[in-house]
Amino acid sequence: MVISSNLGFPRIGAKRELKKAVESYWKGNLSEAELQAEAKNLRKIHWHMQKDAGIDLIPSNDFSFYDHVLDTIALVGAVPERYDAPEGPVSLETYFAMARGQQTSEKDVTAMEMTKWFDTNYHFIVPELSSKTSFKLSSNKIVDEFVEAKELGIDTKPVLLGPVSFLLLAKSHEDGFDALSLLSKLLPVYTEVLKKLEAVGANWVQIDEPCLVLDQNADAITAYKDAYASLSKASSIKILLATYFDDMRENSAVAFGLPVAAVHIDLVRAPGQLDNALSQISGETILSLGVIDGRNIWRADLDQALASVEKAIAKLGSDRVIVGPSCSLLHSPVDLDSETELDEELTSWLAFAKQKLSEISAVANAGNGAKDEAFFANAQAAIQSKASSARVHNKAVKERTANITEDMKSRNSDYAIRAEIQRPILNLPLLPTTTIGSFPQTAEVRATRAKFRTGEISAQEYEKFLQEETVRTIRIQEELGLDVLVHGEYERTDMVEYFGEKLSGFAFTKFGWVQSYGSRCVKPPIIFGDVSRPEAMTVKWAEFSQANTKKHMKGMLTGPVTILQWSFVRNDQPESETCKQIGLAIRDEVVDLETAGIKIIQIDEAALREGLPLRRDNWAHYLDWSIEAFRVSASGVGDETQIHTHMCYSDFNDIISHIAKMDADVITIETSRSQMELLDAFVEFKYPNEIGPGVYDIHSPRVPSKQEMVNLLHKALEVLKPEQLWVNPDCGLKTRGWPEVKEALKLMTSAAQQVREELENKRAA
Ligand code: GLN
Ligand code: ZN
Repeated sequence: MVISSNLGFPRIGAKRELKKAVESYWKGNLSEAELQAEAKNLRKIHWHMQKDAGIDLIPSNDFSFYDHVLDTIALVGAVPERYDAPEGPVSLETYFAMARGQQTSEKDVTAMEMTKWFDTNYHFIVPELSSKTSFKLSSNKIVDEFVEAKELGIDTKPVLLGPVSFLLLAKSHEDGFDALSLLSKLLPVYTEVLKKLEAVGANWVQIDEPCLVLDQNADAITAYKDAYASLSKASSIKILLATYFDDMRENSAVAFGLPVAAVHIDLVRAPGQLDNALSQISGETILSLGVIDGRNIWRADLDQALASVEKAIAKLGSDRVIVGPSCSLLHSPVDLDSETELDEELTSWLAFAKQKLSEISAVANAGNGAKDEAFFANAQAAIQSKASSARVHNKAVKERTANITEDMKSRNSDYAIRAEIQRPILNLPLLPTTTIGSFPQTAEVRATRAKFRTGEISAQEYEKFLQEETVRTIRIQEELGLDVLVHGEYERTDMVEYFGEKLSGFAFTKFGWVQSYGSRCVKPPIIFGDVSRPEAMTVKWAEFSQANTKKHMKGMLTGPVTILQWSFVRNDQPESETCKQIGLAIRDEVVDLETAGIKIIQIDEAALREGLPLRRDNWAHYLDWSIEAFRVSASGVGDETQIHTHMCYSDFNDIISHIAKMDADVITIETSRSQMELLDAFVEFKYPNEIGPGVYDIHSPRVPSKQEMVNLLHKALEVLKPEQLWVNPDCGLKTRGWPEVKEALKLMTSAAQQVREELENKRAA
């Protein structure tokens, strides 16, 4: 019999219940016991949902209060020393301190580094390891959750991040240290976990080794072999080794050679790997086919999925085939049934996590000869309707993208000339200070927005409130002495949603949330059709805010690559094509802002780095089209207009020359949590334009000291010329509270002032 399986279910809850509970707990409004009860309830709902959908292998331990890599850190007891954790199980306090930092009267510790999970918009906490790290089983979560499900009558498959990927995703500040050297110390903890799971009755365990889809060196390959030789002997539990997000390519021979019961492959991202897998799989090994897209919201082509399953059955027999999603459904919104406001046609094109469960079941059943013909026919009809819909195709847009000229991809003059033209116009001090765009979206801002949405206040009242917030924020920035101001982005709930709502070709959900990091969720728009801009999107706010200050106000836009990366994108044309269309729409907006008298325009490309393909040989192609789309968006203005861009994610060292090709006059970039590691790139590569490496980590409520920021600026000045350096936080401040923001920015401007004076004194001397 073909088995249906799921690799992971979204934790946040259909109405973001987990987010709300965790945030109440942080605020002290919910006790630990209450938080645990809420979590338990959510797990129960999710397990039942999967069971009701007919899923055979239901995951457990896919739940997390913050992140599953952080859970693994807790599991193996790899808590960095600075948290000063007491012996024994990792407490919730230590857990959240690692995630978010902790600042109390006795303690002041920074958070652990956070980075993007492969090419998704989910962030994980990066394990910090060194040659001195020792491991010890320090959490019983995986066992407890298995037992919890069992008590509900549901037999689950616990999920665990594999030991090799865990080590490969880790970071160390020790020269010459290779995390894989810790494997032999780590395996005993994994062995202990498997034994404990066996003792409570687990039959299956899913061990994720997503690094198997990356370029892997010989040491990593040896590590996989050693690890699974050892884990296969640890217990009699069947191991499902899960890979996802790309093709295993050359690593597939290794994976299929490991002594595991089953191997999962992603056939949505890499359909081509099926043949390879079928030729390499041997013995009794079961093949788990990821045929339903875990990362996008389109209804599946069930015929195509079934064709793969039937091909596998023909070769292996139905007992050796599992049907599942391409990857964990963590990256999908929870339930399409909550979307009561989407029109019927669009709804018929979509499937969220809950609907994907039914798709998985339907394909597995069909593989077992019980095909639900009506269900399959409906899916086919939906695909046909999307392919031919007039809402999807716009001839004018297609013509304009086909006619983008070389001219449209470049500014009129080189940066050096532009900088000379801009200097007297902008008249900025050395080390100009600025922020990235948003200011705290307080409870009041959110409550007022909610009132407007429910009709409790009128559009005029809401507008007036936003204007007052904006002016207040402008005054605060003036008082803080910032040089280049922002309007605070109060009119935006989200930097992508805001633009999507004003562009054609986009649709929005009400509850289509996915976890981004910790309690932070995003609600990606759905790009279903050709994109165009019916009218100006930000000019009114830019004019209003510029009229309220004598300082320069940055126009604030989201770039084409980020809009693309943070949306659910249509899958009927290459992403590069969709990106070009967005690039043109943003270009029109940039030109309109310039015409309205805005002299500095920031085009955020927060997500450019995360879109980088997982395999290096695919990088060049991606960077070509993504940077081209950015340049199209930025190059419609005159030399006198200063274009900024902003990027999150500090790991730029290997693409810094491409970042330079974006040719933004100024780039602000996230670096503070990694202690400006980014700057290593500038030792070799002389970055030509201006740059603001973040000096203040906004992902944590902690206020950095002035000296910390001075130190970071000194560090930056070792590799950058003073004329190149800007001073700014890592990212936007919308998730922070006002008191900490004011304090941190005050210290930041004063750090800038101190270093400015040092530089001037040096020049005078
Ligand atoms: N301008 C946006 C903000 O300040 C940028 C956010 C981001 O980079 N993620 O919120
Ligand atoms: Zn950012």
